[in-house]
Amino acid sequence: MSTYPSHFPAPHVHVLGVPIHAATFESLLAAIAQWVAEGRADPAAPTRQICTVSPEFVMIAQQDAEFMRVLRRADLCVADGVGLLWAARYLGRPLPERVTGSDGVPLIAERAAQEGWRLYLLGAAPGIAERAADVLRARYDGVQIVGTYAGSPAPEEEAEIVARVNASGAEILFVAYGAPQQEKWIARNRARLDVSVAMGVGGTFDFLAGVVPRAPRWMQRVGLEWLFRLLRQPWRWRRMLRLPRFVWAVWRHREHPLSEN
Ligand code: UDP
Repeated sequence: MSTYPSHFPAPHVHVLGVPIHAATFESLLAAIAQWVAEGRADPAAPTRQICTVSPEFVMIAQQDAEFMRVLRRADLCVADGVGLLWAARYLGRPLPERVTGSDGVPLIAERAAQEGWRLYLLGAAPGIAERAADVLRARYDGVQIVGTYAGSPAPEEEAEIVARVNASGAEILFVAYGAPQQEKWIARNRARLDVSVAMGVGGTFDFLAGVVPRAPRWMQRVGLEWLFRLLRQPWRWRRMLRLPRFVWAVWRHREHPLSEN
């Protein structure tokens, strides 16, 4: 049973079975503030999971029942990707804005610097989380990043990683192991994690560290970030075929709700 924060009493729309909340960056920050405050008031408060759902997540979840379960049990699912905004509009339930992990992390760090929230950066290739942390520290004076660690999503490493994160006193954990591993990792470990909030962040540390360039603002605005990523990282083409498949599946589901996708 998930316990949605007061800002998001229920999902706004389900896209092929995946719940999506009507979040904005502002309401995301408000939910995090509420959860960190609850965690400070009650050390036994649960770890809340935030998922940044892209069309890729939705398509993976159609074939991966465990991933679907994780998304349905998350405390907050935000729409990361123009495909989700399109789908919600198409289903008659438009969403307020795209809330990406790569824009969300710097905003959370900025608010963390003001509020004293303690952050932990887990995942990505060795050294990348440290570099991302240095970038955030330089940008947001006083931000408390209490730990960084690459580790790996391998189950054998979990106990040690959870111990590291808990020993750091972190309140917000960002996990960069790529979807769906990062979401499953959080779901498997949330009961023993002491953090208030855990969120999968995909390639965000790579963007922050500058090892992978982010699409220019204008491309993001007109919904072409996927094209930029395809041109820069052409080996992703197979993964990216999920986007047209997503559009097709959402269309079919609406026009033929009883047929298989
Ligand atoms: N990653 C990792 N360990 C793994 C798999 C992935 O640390 O076993 C990291 C990878 O280095 C990258 C991030 O997870 O920093 C995922 O990046 P990707 O661009 O695939 O994620 P997306 O943003 O597309 O979800």
